[in-house]
Amino acid sequence: HYRCRSAFKLLEIDDKLRVLRPGFSVLDCGAAPGAWSQVAVQRVNALGTDAAVPIGFVLGVDLLRISPLEGAVFLSETDMAEPSTLRAIQSLLPLGKADVILSDMAPNATGIKELDHQKLITLCLGLLDMSQSILKPKGMMLCKFWDGSEARLLQNRLKEQFQDVRTIKPQASRKDSAESYYLARLYRGK
Ligand code: SAM
Repeated sequence: HYRCRSAFKLLEIDDKLRVLRPGFSVLDCGAAPGAWSQVAVQRVNALGTDAAVPIGFVLGVDLLRISPLEGAVFLSETDMAEPSTLRAIQSLLPLGKADVILSDMAPNATGIKELDHQKLITLCLGLLDMSQSILKPKGMMLCKFWDGSEARLLQNRLKEQFQDVRTIKPQASRKDSAESYYLARLYRGK
């Protein structure tokens, strides 16, 4: 039982593109209410349920409160756009590093499409900056964006830092037509 239908988007993406593997450390940005974290806990084996594969780690961050979830660590009421958040994240991730950064973050929509689009792109670009400090070489980043004029800019920035960047439109998010994800793989590191 998942906390939110958004789980099916991540399951679909992961089934197709294998983002989450046993043993991985995952940073889940915009994690409330926690459905993506539920999926991540299962797929990285954060609870050690499968003794035959490595044990992973899941850290979720959100502006809102997130109810506790077995196998995950949460930073509730925390703004990813706040500079001090980086240190909090680093102190919680094993060795301060993540194999995968997930972002399903979405700012409160104003209804003004272009403005909402810009706000989300700004969040993603901020996260990309932060990834320099926490993402392992060859790591991955999956981030939601809303279509609009700056999507190309984000895509280009991702391409500078990752060897492989693709756009994903999950079946499970067809309802929300402006929503897509970039999956950036093989982080070049610094
Ligand atoms: N993936 C989640 C799940 O499966 O349960 C759903 C995420 S929901 C679509 C988007 C979340 O992004 C909201 O909970 C919102 O509070 C969060 N968010 C928006 N801006 C944020 C920010 N600056 N820092 C942290 N979280 C943020």
